[in-house]
Amino acid sequence: MQKPLAIVTGASSGIGAATAQRLSERGYPLLLLGRRLDRLQALNLPKTMIRALDVTDRIALASAVAEAEQQFGPTDLLVNNAGVMLLGSMATQDPGEWDRMLDVNVKGLLNGIHAVLAGMVARRRGTIVNVSSIAGRKTFPSHAAYCGTKFAVHAISENLREEVSGQDVRVITIAPGAVETELLGHTTDEAIKRGYDEWKQQMGGVLEAATVAETIRFAYEQPQHVCIREIVLAATRQP
Ligand code: NDP
Repeated sequence: MQKPLAIVTGASSGIGAATAQRLSERGYPLLLLGRRLDRLQALNLPKTMIRALDVTDRIALASAVAEAEQQFGPTDLLVNNAGVMLLGSMATQDPGEWDRMLDVNVKGLLNGIHAVLAGMVARRRGTIVNVSSIAGRKTFPSHAAYCGTKFAVHAISENLREEVSGQDVRVITIAPGAVETELLGHTTDEAIKRGYDEWKQQMGGVLEAATVAETIRFAYEQPQHVCIREIVLAATRQP
C-alpha cells in the first residue's frame, strides 16, 4: 500500500536529514525543506520533492506543501524540525540573534503548523511532530533566548494537542538533549562554543542524530489511537 506524505523541515543536515533518511527507508514519500538546496539534493532519496526555502516565509512554505500534496496526496506527518541555536550572554549578545531564533524556532514552527493543520483537521487524521529540546524543559547557562524559544515550542505543542485531539490529530513533542550536529556551529561567541564542546567531551559524548530520527519514527508509527505526547531523550551521562 502507498504510504502517505511526510514533510521534514530543516532536512538539509543533522536530525532533519537523519529523519528524512529513516522515513524514506520506511517507504514514505517526502517533502524535504531547508535553505541549502545542494544539501537536500545530496540526500538523494526516492519519492522525494525538495524545495529550498526559509521557514520564516509562510507563503513559500504553504505553497511547497500544496505542491507536494498534489503529487503525493495529503500530508500525514509534519516533522517541524528546522531550528537555530545561538548561545550568548544576555548582556552582550546581539539582539538580532534573538530575533533569528524567535523567527525560525517559533514563527517558523507556527508556519509549518499553519501549512498542514486545516487539512489534517478536515480529514480527521495527521501527526505533527515538533522538535523542541531538553532546553525547552530546563534551563542551561548562556541559553536564555534559545530556552525561551524551546519552552515556547512545548507550550504551543501541548496547547495545540489539546485543541485538535478531538479531531484525531496527534501532536508530539520530541525533546532531545545534546546531539552531534551542525547546530552549535552557528553560535558566534567562541568562548561559549569552546565551553560547550568541553562539556560534551566531559560527558563522554552526546546522542547521534540517527537515534533521534528513530525516536521520531517510533512515536509516529504508533497506532492512530495512541498519541505519545512527549519524549525527552538524552545521553545517559547528560545532567
Ligand atoms: P543542524 O544545524 O544540523 O540542522 C538545522 C536545520 O534547520 C538545517 O537543516 C537548516 O537548514 C534548518 N534551518 C535553519 N534555519 C532555517 C530556516 N530559516 N529555514 C529553513 N530551514 C532552516 O542542527 P540539528 O539537527 O541539531 O537541529 C534540528 C533541530 O533539533 C533544531 O530545532 C534544534 O533546536 C533541535 N535540537 C538540537 C539539539 C542538538 O544538540 N543538536 C538538541 C535539542 C534539540 P538550512 O541551513 O539549509 O536552512
